Amino acid sequence: MDLYFDNAATTKLSERALAAYIETSRAIWGNPSSVHAKGLEAKRKLEEERIKASSLIGIEAGNLFFTSGATESIAAVFSSLLFTTPGKIIISRIEHEAVSSWLPVLRQHGWKTAELRAKGGFVDPDDLKAELTPDTKLVAVMAVNNVTGAIQPISRLVSVVREYEKENRRHIFFFSDSVQALGKTDYEIESLGIDGASFSGHKINGPRGIGMLYLRNPSSFRPIAPAGGQEKGKRGGTENLPAIAALTAAMEEWLSGQKESNMRVQAMKERIVSALVEMDYDILSPVCSSPYIISFASRLPSEVYTRMLSDKDVFVSSGSACSNNAKGEGEKILLGMGIRPEKARNAVRISLSNSTTEEETEALIRIIKETGNGR
Ligand code: PLP
Repeated sequence: MDLYFDNAATTKLSERALAAYIETSRAIWGNPSSVHAKGLEAKRKLEEERIKASSLIGIEAGNLFFTSGATESIAAVFSSLLFTTPGKIIISRIEHEAVSSWLPVLRQHGWKTAELRAKGGFVDPDDLKAELTPDTKLVAVMAVNNVTGAIQPISRLVSVVREYEKENRRHIFFFSDSVQALGKTDYEIESLGIDGASFSGHKINGPRGIGMLYLRNPSSFRPIAPAGGQEKGKRGGTENLPAIAALTAAMEEWLSGQKESNMRVQAMKERIVSALVEMDYDILSPVCSSPYIISFASRLPSEVYTRMLSDKDVFVSSGSACSNNAKGEGEKILLGMGIRPEKARNAVRISLSNSTTEEETEALIRIIKETGNGR
């Protein structure tokens, strides 16, 4: 039996999402921008899916834009800064590289940048307060960290920014990469008061290559690539209607059972964590973290350990698998939260899905026990 515990990297496409993909590809293949009947049919479907998706996450349809994934949603926001007079941006030191890779680009264009530490895994609102300056234009802190699962205090961070705005009388865009939060933690965009957020389909049993961008105030947002004016001019390019329908189907499925799944997954997480502690492994994920992510330090370099498990058909990740191309990203995040380098080098991430079973969990624990730690 394959034991797939790398769901923070990607999840398996659900049957319902696949069916929606196939059905839409077959039946509604017109271009939503065409003015003939086939195009209008596709446009209708697109807007129906937008209404469904936005109501599932508790926002207005006009605030939701489909993109090719979270990376593109993030790029849309960060690249739009290049149109404006350079100022300062503040991000956390534990951001995914889809966000952090924008820092050198912006610096090259005259922007000042600051990275907030995340001691113990969390960004401290006081650290943010200390970094705010009159020329700050954007703050970005992710909702849930992809390496440790740490749930960030977004509401409190937003409050710090809004307080500062009152004195400074200038709006600061608060962005939150919410890829690992949607469906996996209590997450309500509207109550957070953020200005923008990114989401990805393939983390919740949807297809890859589809994502969403939330914009609280779309009218003030100027994208770098409006191209053919699709997505109300916020994201050019022919809409991937089958993937959008599949994403919506996956969201419907995932979110409808979210409460029960999260409780069940939390129980499995606790079982794994206590087994790891019993085996004397260090848990790197803080207590306030996603039920779906466990980071721990093995006693071998993470690549060696993950390969040993892979040889036994157990699939986990060394650090952040979404970014194995940029080696060391997971390590950088762990160092950013104050983990010692020797532990960060040995970090392994186990990530669960809503379809993970107790049987798989027990088998994982058994194999971790058998594998030992090379001592
Ligand atoms: N942000 C976080 C926190 C992620 O975990 C990922 C995963 O890859 C991304 C962004 C990028 O998402 P996508 O693959 O949709 O571009």
